Amino acid sequence: MKQFHNIINGKRIVSRSGETIVSVNPATEQAITRFPKGTAQDVRAAIDAAEKAYETWKDVPPPKRGQILLRAAQLLRKDKLAMGRLVTMEMGKVLAEGLGDVQESIDMLEYIAGEGRRLFGHTTTSELPDKMAMTVRAPVGVMGLITPWNFPTAIPIWKLAPCLVCGNTAVFKPASDTPLCGLRMVELLEKAGLPSGVVNFVTGSGSTVGAEIVKNKRISGISFTGSREVGDFVIRNAGVKKVGLELGGKNGIIVMDDANMDLAVDGIIFGAYGTTGQRCTATSRVIVHRKVRQRLERMLVARIKKLRLGNGLRPSTDVGPLINQAAVDKVHEYTHIGQEDGAKLVIGGSKAKVNGKGYFYKPTLFTNVTPDMRIAQEEMFGPTLSMIEAKNLDLAVDAMNSVTYGLSAAIYTNDVRTAMLAVRDIEAGLVYVNSSTIGSEVHLPFGGVKQTGNGAREGGIEGINEFSETKTVYIDYSGRLQKAQIDTD
Ligand code: NAD
Repeated sequence: MKQFHNIINGKRIVSRSGETIVSVNPATEQAITRFPKGTAQDVRAAIDAAEKAYETWKDVPPPKRGQILLRAAQLLRKDKLAMGRLVTMEMGKVLAEGLGDVQESIDMLEYIAGEGRRLFGHTTTSELPDKMAMTVRAPVGVMGLITPWNFPTAIPIWKLAPCLVCGNTAVFKPASDTPLCGLRMVELLEKAGLPSGVVNFVTGSGSTVGAEIVKNKRISGISFTGSREVGDFVIRNAGVKKVGLELGGKNGIIVMDDANMDLAVDGIIFGAYGTTGQRCTATSRVIVHRKVRQRLERMLVARIKKLRLGNGLRPSTDVGPLINQAAVDKVHEYTHIGQEDGAKLVIGGSKAKVNGKGYFYKPTLFTNVTPDMRIAQEEMFGPTLSMIEAKNLDLAVDAMNSVTYGLSAAIYTNDVRTAMLAVRDIEAGLVYVNSSTIGSEVHLPFGGVKQTGNGAREGGIEGINEFSETKTVYIDYSGRLQKAQIDTD
């Protein structure tokens, strides 16, 4: 099995710990590669390199930084199939979604490459004569990037691309379940011409490598995507740093009685069981109008029965494995909790193997769920959908908003007034009308409200804010001392 290393200042470095972590194919349980189990000292060496590289990288003109990203996009496009297959092997999602993960990375690299020629600020007036005022963007400094495993190329690139175009350098720690995909993204940037030391790559546990990145005072900003629990640790331990948090979700789809039911079923199946429910925007609740509840249940069960579990590399597979055994156990635990709380298990609810292997779980549907039940409140990150009945739109929106998360939501209706009221009243960072809870595009802001984050957005122009500081510039060409707020007449 191949052993990879950390990348510090462009060099492949063996971790001081001498220990390793192993990346495993969740469909076959076969080990893929070995990576270092990094230490706090490794992180500090990576920060040294990032600080040194920052001295020159911050002064490279942003369009030139953008050109490197564009070259990376072109290289990745050529390598898309191989990378997509690697995503499927290391993370488990079906190949179409593995390729989608890579396409999202290409899209983001291309979009942010163009940002090198924008990075707009504002120009505005001054209250004093012969004085001008504007804002420019400045880099944050050395940034710590910490990512989860569920989008193993796209989430690293969602962070790396804007981080780099804004002139920051980085210490990047991928999730321990998908280090090879993370490494490939760093190698891609190197091949595209990124100077040594600008991105430094350290693998290892969250509690050691991640915690050092979070706490180290020489890191000026953290961009973290992951669970709420770890997000909470990050915000409490980062100290005075710029922190962007993208955390979990408990996303729902409302189906009204006038909805196109076939369309709604397509969206629910894709949202709930696509990526085996392991998207932060996955649909884990369907809130259905009382009049169409039975019909929706029948339609969903018919479709769920047809979903085929298997290795994501096989074209016949609809639903791949969960990421690891702990995820299977967690999802199964919630099946018990749902039953104990009085929900009705309609289909699924059991662990599975394919050819005797893999971390599979059967697509699961609960009905008779009330909004306060734990299965309707807590993120499971698996292929389990809870159906909640509502009498009208107001109660459906109340149920939607009853969770502490606020990432993504959708409504299926053919009534424009119903749709607009839902868009207005739903508490979420993303709202879809007549489409599932998943499917973000790179040029639009992405992120959530409530405990899904701390207000940061990635993607779109707002994504640039996470990786830059605003510098306000006043230029006084009056030739005399002018006092704002004092020279009022
Ligand atoms: P996780 O929080 O367990 O881990 C995320 C990353 O944090 C990993 O790299 C991990 O090693 C690291 N980490 C763990 N402990 C740490 C610590 N003490 N200090 C610093 N870093 C630490 O999450 P996960 O299981 O990898 O991913 C699933 C979660 O991510 C779900 O909750 C999902 O909703 C969320 N997610 C959110 C978004 C979003 O944009 N909102 C996108 C994808 C995933």
